[in-house]
Amino acid sequence: LTHQKARPAGSRSWRRALMRDVSDPTPSTTEAPLKRPPLKRLWELALTEWRFLAFGTGFLLLGAGMTIVFPTIVGEVVDTALSTESIDAAAFLLFGIFAVQSIALGVRYFLFAVAGERVVARLRERVYGSILGQDIAFFDERRTGELTNRLAADTTTLQNAVTNSLPNFVRDVVVTLGVVAMLFLTSPKLTFVMLALVLPTVALAVIFGRRIERLAREVQDALADAGHVAQETISGIRTVRAFARERLAVQTYGRAVWHAFRTARRHRGYYAALIIVSSLAASIAVSVVVWYGGRLVQSGTMTAGEFSSFIIYTLTLAATIGLLSDTWAQIVSARGAATHVFELHDRVPMIPISGGRELARLEGQVELQGVHFRYPTRSDVPVLRGIDLTLERGAIVALVGPSGSGKSTVAGLIPRFYDPIEGTVTIDGHDVRSLDPTWLRGHIGIVAQEPLLFSSTVADNIRYGRFDATDEEVEAAARAAHAHDFISGFPEGYQTQVGERGLSLSAGQKQRIAIARAVLKDPRILILDEATSALDSESEHLVKEALDDLMEGRTTLVIAHRLSTVRHAHTVVVIEGGEIIQSGSHAELMGDDQGLYHRLVQKQFLAT
Ligand code: ADP
Repeated sequence: LTHQKARPAGSRSWRRALMRDVSDPTPSTTEAPLKRPPLKRLWELALTEWRFLAFGTGFLLLGAGMTIVFPTIVGEVVDTALSTESIDAAAFLLFGIFAVQSIALGVRYFLFAVAGERVVARLRERVYGSILGQDIAFFDERRTGELTNRLAADTTTLQNAVTNSLPNFVRDVVVTLGVVAMLFLTSPKLTFVMLALVLPTVALAVIFGRRIERLAREVQDALADAGHVAQETISGIRTVRAFARERLAVQTYGRAVWHAFRTARRHRGYYAALIIVSSLAASIAVSVVVWYGGRLVQSGTMTAGEFSSFIIYTLTLAATIGLLSDTWAQIVSARGAATHVFELHDRVPMIPISGGRELARLEGQVELQGVHFRYPTRSDVPVLRGIDLTLERGAIVALVGPSGSGKSTVAGLIPRFYDPIEGTVTIDGHDVRSLDPTWLRGHIGIVAQEPLLFSSTVADNIRYGRFDATDEEVEAAARAAHAHDFISGFPEGYQTQVGERGLSLSAGQKQRIAIARAVLKDPRILILDEATSALDSESEHLVKEALDDLMEGRTTLVIAHRLSTVRHAHTVVVIEGGEIIQSGSHAELMGDDQGLYHRLVQKQFLAT
């Protein structure tokens, strides 16, 4: 395991339990805190849909207005019923109010929902763009699951906020204020009695609510830990199986799940207490209102109709306050989600993906001067310590050295996956930091040791090298990469699906497709990470031939594992512990029989 990556602190203990021998470095956080409050940002985003929201708010207020007036009309119906007048008109008015309320409810739902859908679609697109634009160091630090979760779950929470929570909050506040006003109009005395009972309960619920919220968050965190364990072990089932670590994994997962359970039990306990206290308070309030109101009716200070209205208002108020606390909880969780999402949205990569100079021509002279490097995730470990390396235009330079000596790191600095801490990387004499990264990478071809194929057709995977390539060009590239024969052997040829959900190819076949990709791209500078042992001798031979053709006339840096490649190279550079300790031609280096190169050749290359 040479490529250990830092993980955020939350999952550390579980990870350590699962893989006891892995040391876990502390991640460095590069996120700047949000400049503006997350809910304000969400509001600004929602405002882009102001037409929908304005109409939606209109219908919302209409519905809320109906909720506020209908108890009064019920009171009128009751009073009219107690007299000799016809109640038809009043009853019809009541029906009209309910009809308007129903329609307003549906229309408002639709308008806010569409606004929410659009806001979240736009947000997802932007956040995805921001994620893909981040520097590679950022991805060393983050789990894939965490990032895809931000895109899927957190944005859904925000959508809910725009669609439900914010409008409901507005409605509940309007209804609460309206109902309290109507209560005062109906009977100030009774209102004072009622509020004296209700307000302390609300205060209690708020205090309880805080605690409940905190516990809910703890439950979420505990479940997330369990999720990480499950995700890693399921996706790495082969490793788990090979080491027969299923029981250990189940135990680790079980510990996380039961920890979540215990927290959840406390959470539910508090919630149950809140339910008892608040509904008891509501019942007491209603009983007192009924008792006191009944006496007011008896003494003739209040009509039966007013009394009926008052009771309905009290019930409406209780229900609305109950809803308000739920809505508030949703808004708080939306604030958390918004903070996460906007942090990602706003993050400025340390290395931008575009911007800078483009040269009219690229010759392909690469130079590293006094390069020192540490990975941002492990800033205490020096990885490169003063590298001076020149790749003459069109030359093949082989990089050899023990595993972990820094070969891939050197290769990664040329396409600017990372920037050196000290020293410079130049191309044709220009510091790469002054060049447009997209342009620069357009001229660099990389064939990795284990190339990644996307789940699509063979042709699409080759065309990843150059999108406007014709079918003929794709085939020519495949021929050059010695891949045409096996591709045309598939029943569907170039249209065969590969990647995660398609046909699995052998390591050698994947490599040759990756080489075809590079052939199509036709870069000036080539970086090759030779596959070590994954290839059988037949495909090794084909891959080697394909690579030899590909290197022809290009400046090539090859991380070499094979003697034949090293022989082919113009210069061999031996690197150990992040320093260049030998360089020269194969023959020159072999001359020093005390040197590392000599030992490496004896031990490693000749053995294979
Ligand atoms: P080589 O290619 O010679 O095997 P690398 O360049 O991959 O060596 O690694 C050099 C050192 O840098 C190793 O100690 C390795 O653990 C560390 N390293 C490599 N990649 C990363 C990374 N993404 N984050 C942190 N450390 C890394």
